[in-house]
Amino acid sequence: MHFWRYGLLGTFAIFSTIALAAAESLPLNQSPETSSIPLNQYALRSWNTRDGLPHNSINRITQSHEGYLWLATWEGPVRYNGRSFRIYDDTTVTKMREAGALSVDYDESSQEIVFSGPRGSVVTYRNNNWTPEIIGENFVFDTVVDYNEVRWAATAKGVYRLKEGEEPVHYTERNGLPTDFTFRLFAVSQSESHDARLYVGTRRGVAYYDEKTDSFIAIKSISQAQVRALTILSNDTIVVANDDGLFYLPPQASDFIPWPYAMKDRVTALSETSEGCLLIGTFTRGVGRLCQHSEDWLSIENGLPNSHVLDIYRDNDGTIWIGTHGGLVQLRQALFRSFTPHHGLKGAYVRSVNTDSMGRVWVGTNDGISRQTTTSNDWIAFEALKSDPKLSALSVLSLAHGKDDIVYVGSYTEGLLQLIDGKITAQLSREQGFASNEIRVVLPLEQTDLLLVGTARGLYLVRTKSGAFEVVRHYTTADGMAADFVSSVTMDSEGALWVSSTLSLTYFKPLEDHNWQPEPVELASFTGASNIFSGTFHNGRIWFATDHGMLTRSLKTNDWQWLSRRDGLPFDKTFTINFDAADNLWLGGARGILRVAKADLERWMIDNRLTIQYQLFTEVDGMVSRQLTTGGPASVVDKNGHLWFASALGAVKVDPEAVDKYSRSSPAPVIESIITDEGEIDVERRISADNTRTEFRYVALGYHMPEALQYQVRLVGYDSHWIDRGNQLETAYTALAPGEYTFMVRSRYPGGEWSPVTAVTLNKSAYFYQKPWFWFIFSLVVILLVSLAIHLRIRSLQHTKRRLQGLVQKKTQELEAMALQDTLTGLANRRSFDQQLDHEVQNSRRYNTPLSVALIDIDYFKQINDTYLHTGGDVVLKQVAELLQQLVREVDGVARWGGEEFAIIFPQTMLADAVLVLERIRVAIENLRVENFEEARITVSIGVTELTKEESSAELLKNADRALYTAKEQGRNRIVTV
Ligand code: GH3
Ligand code: MG
Ligand code: MG
Repeated sequence: MHFWRYGLLGTFAIFSTIALAAAESLPLNQSPETSSIPLNQYALRSWNTRDGLPHNSINRITQSHEGYLWLATWEGPVRYNGRSFRIYDDTTVTKMREAGALSVDYDESSQEIVFSGPRGSVVTYRNNNWTPEIIGENFVFDTVVDYNEVRWAATAKGVYRLKEGEEPVHYTERNGLPTDFTFRLFAVSQSESHDARLYVGTRRGVAYYDEKTDSFIAIKSISQAQVRALTILSNDTIVVANDDGLFYLPPQASDFIPWPYAMKDRVTALSETSEGCLLIGTFTRGVGRLCQHSEDWLSIENGLPNSHVLDIYRDNDGTIWIGTHGGLVQLRQALFRSFTPHHGLKGAYVRSVNTDSMGRVWVGTNDGISRQTTTSNDWIAFEALKSDPKLSALSVLSLAHGKDDIVYVGSYTEGLLQLIDGKITAQLSREQGFASNEIRVVLPLEQTDLLLVGTARGLYLVRTKSGAFEVVRHYTTADGMAADFVSSVTMDSEGALWVSSTLSLTYFKPLEDHNWQPEPVELASFTGASNIFSGTFHNGRIWFATDHGMLTRSLKTNDWQWLSRRDGLPFDKTFTINFDAADNLWLGGARGILRVAKADLERWMIDNRLTIQYQLFTEVDGMVSRQLTTGGPASVVDKNGHLWFASALGAVKVDPEAVDKYSRSSPAPVIESIITDEGEIDVERRISADNTRTEFRYVALGYHMPEALQYQVRLVGYDSHWIDRGNQLETAYTALAPGEYTFMVRSRYPGGEWSPVTAVTLNKSAYFYQKPWFWFIFSLVVILLVSLAIHLRIRSLQHTKRRLQGLVQKKTQELEAMALQDTLTGLANRRSFDQQLDHEVQNSRRYNTPLSVALIDIDYFKQINDTYLHTGGDVVLKQVAELLQQLVREVDGVARWGGEEFAIIFPQTMLADAVLVLERIRVAIENLRVENFEEARITVSIGVTELTKEESSAELLKNADRALYTAKEQGRNRIVTV
């Protein structure tokens, strides 16, 4: 048995597919049908310390079930979520003896992540907890969990078995290891192909653990060189890389076999692509991909930041991650594939892309033309056309193909070229009488040998034959064109031409026999666009890419529609416009490629007020440059339905169906942390009552276009609907009321479908005054206080009421008294008199006693009032009343009967006796002299009567009144009796 030493590999340094075809069949799982794009056409992205990595050496890479990538770096464990690196370099947290991590291993069954490092450090991470286990004092290079769920560690001084709850068991040379310096561990489970086995890669080859003897047995079929990597392929072949090369163990075999050929360099890492090719990492050559019939490499020239590879890991999505001494590298099949001078392009600044009659893609650059070598969909390569020195440095502006494999090239300085089989067969330039050598557009007319050629000095109709051009017609401003400079020519379904210049558009009305009548189109009334770069005819409409978005016109209705920044486009300048087979619109501009889905475009076409929905593609999607250029044409659909675009750094290609499929699903986000005023909290924890700000951090662990992922959040209990968060990875809420909240988050690629929702529920505590028990007790106290107040108040009111009642009673009594008295004279009033009279009438009847009643009226009282005014009259009334009171007996009742009339009841008095009293009164009044009104002469007339047996008090009074009337009639100042 012999081995190839790496130092002898020089002769194998350059492989060709032919050499490989002759070689033995490789022990790979690659089916003959599966083909793959070259490694250097994968989208490559890399991160180093400038992007947040703590160290540029990425020792090992793995992925946990949620999708996080875990990296072992010299500055500690690192977790990557697609957007940022979380560094665990604090040894008080990780409990490692030193920050640096040499390996990381993920155990699916326990969901534990194990990092190992210098000075015997082995730490297990699970649910935010780090658990250390220190084994010896040496480097721990690797750990693994075997088929019995037992963890092993490989160190510079032997292997340790770390069984939970037991002391670590130490294995050295004495236990059968070829040497104490052990570097890699690899566990194989029991299967049809292999026995369950724990392999250890040492400085002197590989050994495996023998359970029966509890010792290691060296594998003799592998050379005793430093082992750097072990893996098992999808076809159950175990592959080992040591410094002598590769060895493999086929299924069911007992001995390892050397790889059919030697490696170009020492292999440091092993992995497998999803197509079944072997990926190898090397010391000095980067990454190699060994397939059944091909081998290709990714090195510094292709963008790998460092050629020393430390680890290769394929994640759950098939994305390849490479740990190098120059950072972390991602290789993925991006939506876009880019083709540059590395891929056979002659020149990087691409101005034009087009297909030929065989379906091959041609790429015109500022420095020559390249043609696709095959028509394969996957393995795409280009060759530069170098047959003529004129071609090899040609500055190309436009490309087109005509009948019989003829390709036309419009150049910047050489005019129009005719190419057959890659060779120049005819040329039309100033030398041949052409007005301009600057050819922006070449448009062959179908089923003819005619070409429309747009130049800087008008539009030509040219007849082409094998080996010759012949000018048929030349249109300029003299014929009615808006401008001589032609930037694009688009033909519609009616044979009309739409010819654009940098500031105008001319409509070429079709006449018979390939003749047109140019008519300038007035643009200003319906668009702000003036510079039309290119056009296409699709679905009954003509479509233009302009300096202010997209412009389109219906051939049927002649209506113009203008889609620009005002409608939500992210930029204005669009150079090229195309539709894919599913009628999705593709607009290429100076800041990327926009895709407007058919449905979104139709919706906008119906209602221009809507904001346009689009997807924007840039470098992260695999484009070598987002800056497209303005050639003729700058985009084309190839025979596979893929779109090609001309960019400033190469040609880019996209499969529109892949975009559709791709954007449909996004991984459900993970909620990484909840941050309150106190800092990060556990999901189970409550938020305290005095917390003012609660922030949720989340991320969808998708590594294809992590920056393009859009998020929506909703806090149930706060938001009534989903809130757009763009690509923000955190959402904060301030001043949340106490209660239960459920935070929900979902993600999607632009225009795609929303991922499943991830949710977390938490509670915000209440202040004591916000709690129900508080309110219960508070309410009780309030009720008690209010009842007490009411009680006291009622008592006070009752007291007041009693007092008031007394008061009222008193007042009523007074009022009652007042009601019986005449206020002016103080005599009984009429009411009182009536009561008294009734009473006396009754008494008179009961006791059969006499009763007399007199009515007294002051004579000519009006005159008194007139003379002494009303006040004087009042004084007289008072004096008279006083006098009456004085002159009658106590039992006699004097009352004021009305105005200046008085009445007197004489109980138990006969008429004659009453008259005696009345006469005294009459005289006394006659003699009365009132103070201040001494001149006043006052007399009264009196009617008096005595109660007869049947008389009522009313009849009694009527008689008295009649007597009084008589007294007045008889001359006044007298007494009349009835
Ligand atoms: P005679 O009775 O003699 O026929 O003449 P007279 O002027 O008294 O007639 P009359 O009964 O028509 O007028 C009564 C007047 O008494 C009318 C009214 O202005 C006056 N008078 C009634 N009550 C009062 C009062 O309370 N004070 C004053 N000053 N005058 C009153
Ligand atoms: Mg009178
Ligand atoms: Mg009178």
